[in-house]
Amino acid sequence: MEEKPLKSVFFHFRFKFLAITAIFFLLWVILSGSAEFDQFATTLQFKLLGPFFIGSGIFYLVFRKVPIKCPNCDKFISTRKNWHCPNCDKMQGKERYLSDKCVHCKQMLATSFCDHCKKEFRL
Ligand SMILES: [Zn+2]
Ligand SMILES: [Zn+2]
Repeated sequence: MEEKPLKSVFFHFRFKFLAITAIFFLLWVILSGSAEFDQFATTLQFKLLGPFFIGSGIFYLVFRKVPIKCPNCDKFISTRKNWHCPNCDKMQGKERYLSDKCVHCKQMLATSFCDHCKKEFRL
């Protein structure tokens, strides 16, 4: 019997989306900006760089805090808890974000369990 694929909450996707946006923004700045630096410093692209990176930083902090919705029972789950690492089989020992790497083995979490229905899902 084939195992059903785990449902995903697209948690890591939030950060991938942010990274892709940042790369495209940088490409746009590089490709459309002026070749001369003193001219480039006066362009709109240059003025947008600062606010853009501050904005991305804020988005990153907000994204990891926004609770995820369990794909199995539709209840909200906190992204910050003392999670168990399936890779090294240890608890984190303190409250950490699901987007953080394991304190022991530095692996990213691929799946997590719902606090309500205890079912596993992909992050
Ligand atoms: Zn670990
Ligand atoms: Zn659930």
